[in-house]
Amino acid sequence: MEKSATRQSFSAGEIIFAEDDAPTTAFLIESGRVAVTTVQHGEIRELGELGPGALLGEMAVIDSAPRSATARALSDCVLTPIDRNQFAERLAMADPVVRALLMSQLTRFRSALARLTGDVREVGHSPAHDDSGAFDKIRLESELRAALERDELEVLLQPIQHIATGKTAGFEALIRWQHPERGQVSPTEFIRLAEETSLIIPIGDYVLARVCDMLVELRGLGRESLPFIALNISARQIDDPLLIDRMLEHLKVRGLPPGRLEVEITESLVFNQSQISALIDRCHAAGMQVALDDFGTGYSNLGPVLSLKFDRIKLDQSFTRALDGPRGTGLVRAIVAMTKALNCEMIAEGVETRDQLDALREMGCDYAQGWLVGKPISLHEVLDRG
Ligand code: C2E
Ligand code: CA
Ligand code: CA
Repeated sequence: MEKSATRQSFSAGEIIFAEDDAPTTAFLIESGRVAVTTVQHGEIRELGELGPGALLGEMAVIDSAPRSATARALSDCVLTPIDRNQFAERLAMADPVVRALLMSQLTRFRSALARLTGDVREVGHSPAHDDSGAFDKIRLESELRAALERDELEVLLQPIQHIATGKTAGFEALIRWQHPERGQVSPTEFIRLAEETSLIIPIGDYVLARVCDMLVELRGLGRESLPFIALNISARQIDDPLLIDRMLEHLKVRGLPPGRLEVEITESLVFNQSQISALIDRCHAAGMQVALDDFGTGYSNLGPVLSLKFDRIKLDQSFTRALDGPRGTGLVRAIVAMTKALNCEMIAEGVETRDQLDALREMGCDYAQGWLVGKPISLHEVLDRG
């Protein structure tokens, strides 16, 4: 064998690696042919023949198991070695579900191979990665799909108070999953999961339809002004060119004024400014307002705030909490001033104490949302309170 860092040459008949060797590298066959063999009941059995362009010995480097076969050059060969760490790094970075699929296939292949060769040693891979998280995820995703069909998703409303008058101006729609065994699953857990697949689209449509139905019921209360309901929009929904059309259609069939539906876009989604700008323009043309959610938690980049015409800025709850100290108070005061300079209204999120509300009122913040004002509640509870 002739060795260099990037290429290795083997002469016809030479062993490249032997069964039970510890795996250190895989190979890419550049030229020549390689026979892969194993010993079955004391006899050599050929598993396959590989030629240029094929990967050789990758199985063992993936799962760190000893070589399950012997590779021998059938003709003079040139191979490019691939260090196991190159695979390990990519595997570590891969989607956990894809990784779990690969490991499952590998284990199954090894079992089949062991049965074929009469090798009675138990095949179980020593996982370099823990797959259980990935399988939990797949399970949760299937359950979420079923939950959507079975109506296990509930939309709650959290009141948003106009600070100066103390009146409830509107609500934020917040989704809940009432899981039969796990209990209430937080949206922070399952919305991200739904976003990884396209499941967020039907979930978003479900929330939209529920919110519009709720507006109809709130209108039935006959108050002089109908409160608005703000809807959280996720990344994939923003990419959906028909999103606004669907919103308007839902409003139209119920005879609702578009101004009572609001859109919340979280700050970290605002990197594609032209896309968000187009979305805001379409909302405005239809009469809907748009709020910048979780302000101060994204990229802390003021460019989008300057150029995008948001109607409202929602101060993240971490800043509201910081009102308990002098630095935080100074910062929030500056943010309120900035919001006013931009002609936006400000909603402070996560208001939990009377002191926080007093501080916000004194600074001129327009709206408060948080446990002090009210926790997220069902529409029935909202209606019962009149
Ligand atoms: P968000 O939009 O920032 O929603 C505010 C979160 O703060 C809600 O958590 C709310 O229950 C919580 N909260 C409200 N007041 C207080 C308070 O005084 N103190 C504290 N500690 N927390 C408070 P929730 O309901 O668990 O929602 C979490 C996130 O899930 C939301 O964050 C939003 O990003 C996402 N989400 C919820 N519903 C939907 C939905 O229908 N669609 C989409 N795309 N995302 C949603
Ligand atoms: Ca929100
Ligand atoms: Ca928020």
